[in-house]
Amino acid sequence: MLFRDVLVDENLKQQLISLVKNNRISHAQLFLGPAGSHKFALAIAYAQYILCANRGEEDSCGTCPSCVKFAKLAHPDLHLIFPDANTDSKKSQKGTAQQQAMAKFINFVTENDYHLDYNQWSEGESKQLNINANDCSFIVHQNNIRSYESGYKIFILWMAERLYHGAAPRLLKTLEEPENKTLFILIAENSEKILPTILSRTQLIKIPKLSKETIKSELQNKFNVNERTADDIAEISEGNYIKAIELLNDSEAIELLLDDFKFILESAVAHARSDIQNIRFIELQERFTKIIAEGREKQKQFIRYMIQMFRNILLVNSNKTELLRATTKEKNILSTFTPYIKLRNISPITEACNKAILYIERNGNSSLIFNNLYFNIANRLQVR
Ligand SMILES: [Zn+2]
Repeated sequence: MLFRDVLVDENLKQQLISLVKNNRISHAQLFLGPAGSHKFALAIAYAQYILCANRGEEDSCGTCPSCVKFAKLAHPDLHLIFPDANTDSKKSQKGTAQQQAMAKFINFVTENDYHLDYNQWSEGESKQLNINANDCSFIVHQNNIRSYESGYKIFILWMAERLYHGAAPRLLKTLEEPENKTLFILIAENSEKILPTILSRTQLIKIPKLSKETIKSELQNKFNVNERTADDIAEISEGNYIKAIELLNDSEAIELLLDDFKFILESAVAHARSDIQNIRFIELQERFTKIIAEGREKQKQFIRYMIQMFRNILLVNSNKTELLRATTKEKNILSTFTPYIKLRNISPITEACNKAILYIERNGNSSLIFNNLYFNIANRLQVR
């Protein structure tokens, strides 16, 4: 990982680079930053810069043997410590379970472009994951043996708040008086959850959340997202890159919901106006069939989406657009339906939607429920 690929403020990179240049590297640092900031990438870039055999003024060389090993996260003097379910103390660090866990972790890091999220990492695990006593023994042991090749030993502890409290005392002495050229980089999101005794032994490096502009340009450059969508997602994700990616993956799903909503409401308007030519009854049934085939949860999700859209139409009608939480595409579609949704019909329409959700929960016939809901809405639209 090169500094230039890390999504943090340039001044922060310079601060770390100058620590290395002036030989003022602290032996224990805490990289503290909110969820979705690129702090793990920064820690790796920093460690790589320290060990680079040919480092430049601004960045590692990227090509020396040390950098090549860093690119695979396989440098023998780089030790990655992370929360893990494995607590079997009899297994040595070279045991198969640890090797598997490490391979899984490295895969997780590269798959997510070094944007790590604890909830994603622990997904599917039945219990909380910890940095456990086993990990602490490993650190203490490695601290006491020689560096493999660089002269340094660098430990990066991801999610320091998940350090098992019972195991922490083993680390304190090592953190306070590590062997020469042993470095600790602790990464955390919430300093309140870190033991004060650990906190007081580290130098704090604060990593701010990403700016809206950074997220927007990443989405445009890396994922080819159009400017409007990138702008919408950057706005809603509030500086959290991981959330932005989730929204990006979701945005297709939202577009499908919107498309179905638009079709159904257009048809309902045609019905309400007795505009027979514009009622596409067959396609309407096909849309219902498609939604129904996705199961009861998705059916309810779609109706909840309709309720949200009806409320949004009313907001546009009442000139309260500042309360709208909608994408640009949604806003455009909402404004075409403003003549039909007013204060006087929003309640019965919402009520019909809520009843439909209730019937779905009671295992009613979904096709009947959707058709009923459709006619309920069509009958209540304002067409005069
Ligand atoms: Zn290098």
